[in-house]
Amino acid sequence: MSQDQSFLTDFHEVAAIGATEAGGVHREAATPEDRLTRDWFVRFAQSRGWPTVVDGIGNLFALVDLVGPQGRVVLTGSHLDSQPRGGRFDGAYGVLAALHAADRVQRRVRAGEIEVLHNLVVVDWFNEEGGRFAPSIMGSSVYAGLMDLDEMLATEDLEGTTVREALSGIGYLGDPGAEGVPAVDSLAAYAEIHIEQGHVLEDEQIPLGAVDSSWHTQKLDIEILGEQSHTGATRMEDRRDALVGAAHVVLRFQEVCTRFAQGSLVSSVGQVTVEPNSPIVVNSRVHLVGDLRADDPRIVERARDWLMEQFAQIGQECGLEVRASDVDIRPNRYYPEEGVELSEKVAAELGVPIRRIQTMAGHDSVALNTVTPSVMLFIPSVDGVSHCEREFTTDEDMVTGVGMLTGVLERLAHGALDGVAYPGTAPARREDGVS
Ligand SMILES: [Zn+2]
Repeated sequence: MSQDQSFLTDFHEVAAIGATEAGGVHREAATPEDRLTRDWFVRFAQSRGWPTVVDGIGNLFALVDLVGPQGRVVLTGSHLDSQPRGGRFDGAYGVLAALHAADRVQRRVRAGEIEVLHNLVVVDWFNEEGGRFAPSIMGSSVYAGLMDLDEMLATEDLEGTTVREALSGIGYLGDPGAEGVPAVDSLAAYAEIHIEQGHVLEDEQIPLGAVDSSWHTQKLDIEILGEQSHTGATRMEDRRDALVGAAHVVLRFQEVCTRFAQGSLVSSVGQVTVEPNSPIVVNSRVHLVGDLRADDPRIVERARDWLMEQFAQIGQECGLEVRASDVDIRPNRYYPEEGVELSEKVAAELGVPIRRIQTMAGHDSVALNTVTPSVMLFIPSVDGVSHCEREFTTDEDMVTGVGMLTGVLERLAHGALDGVAYPGTAPARREDGVS
C-alpha cells in the first residue's frame, strides 16, 4: 500500500469511531468514543515502537525518538474529540496527519535520507472542543500554563461529572509529572494542520493555507432571571418570562453584527439552559453563553458595549433581571513570520500553491504558540462548513496536507525555527478600526 493510501485507510477507520448516520462523528471529550480513538492512537504508536504517555489533563503523547533522550522536541498534533454530532475532519485529521507525517520523517531519518537535530512527539490534546466541558482548548492550555490544572480537573459537565472523573473513567487520567511528557522548556517548535472551517481556500482554489494570526474572541456569560408561574393561570401582564427575555437577547447577538462592516464581526449564542423547562411553567431562569469574534479587538469591545446596553433595556421592558459578565477573553495571536515563510518554502518545493490566512476559530496551536514557535496549516473545507455532520474535505486535499506537514516537520526537526521569537508580532492597525 502506498503511504498516501495507508493514511487514507487509517483516517477513514478512525472516522468510523462514534460515526453518526449522517456522516459525522459524536465523540465528545472523555466519553467511551473518545477512549476508542485514543486506544487507536496508542495502537498506531505501539506498532511503530513509539512509547505513549498521558499527562495530568489527559493529553496523550507518542514519543518518536530520532536523536536520543537528550534531544529537544518538535511537537505536532491536534485533537481527536468532536462537537456533539460534529464532523469527522475537525481535529482528527490533524492527529492522523501528524502520526503519518512523523512516521514518514522517522523512515527518512532511518534510511539516511535526511538529518535531524530534534525528536518528534505526536499529541492528541484533551478537550479542544469544549462542548462537554468548558472552556475549550483545555488540554493544550493547561500544558502551556495558561489554565490551572486543578481548576480544569474540577470542571463539571451538565450532568455534574468532573473532568477528573471522566478522564479516570476512560483510563486516560495521567500523572502531571509522568516521565516522557515533553517539558515545555524542551520544545523546539509546534506544528498543527487542520481543516480551514471557512471557504477562503475553496473559493480561491488554493489547497494550503499558512495561518498568520487568530481573531480576538470573547464570551458573555448571561443570566436572565424572571419568575416561575403557571402558563395557564397567570395573566399576560403579570408574567416575568425569562425565556422571552432570552429570545430578545439571542436576536440582539445576531443584530449586533449588522452594525459593523460585513464580515468584520461574527457572533452567536451557543449554549442555553432553561429552568424549570416544563411545558406548563413560565420559565424563571435562562442561562446563555454568547460568543463574539473579530480580527480587530475594538470591534468586539464596541459590540460588547452595545449588547450590554441592550440587555439593560430588555430587562426593563420585560420586567427581568439580566446579568452579564465577560468571560474567556482571548486576544489576537500572531504566528511567527519565520514559520509562515517556512511553510511557503515547503509548499513551493512541493509545487503546491499556498496563501496566508487568518483563523477565526481557536486552535490548540494558539495556546502552544505562547510557549514555542508554532506553525499552523489549513487545508480546504468544502462549503466552509464545520462543527456539523456535513463537514467535508476531499481525500486529495488531505493527502496534500500530510505531504506538506511532513516537509514542515523535517525542517523543524532540523532546527528551522530554533531561537525564533514567539508569538509573532502584530502588523500596525489603522485608527479607523479597519485592519
Ligand atoms: Zn478543531
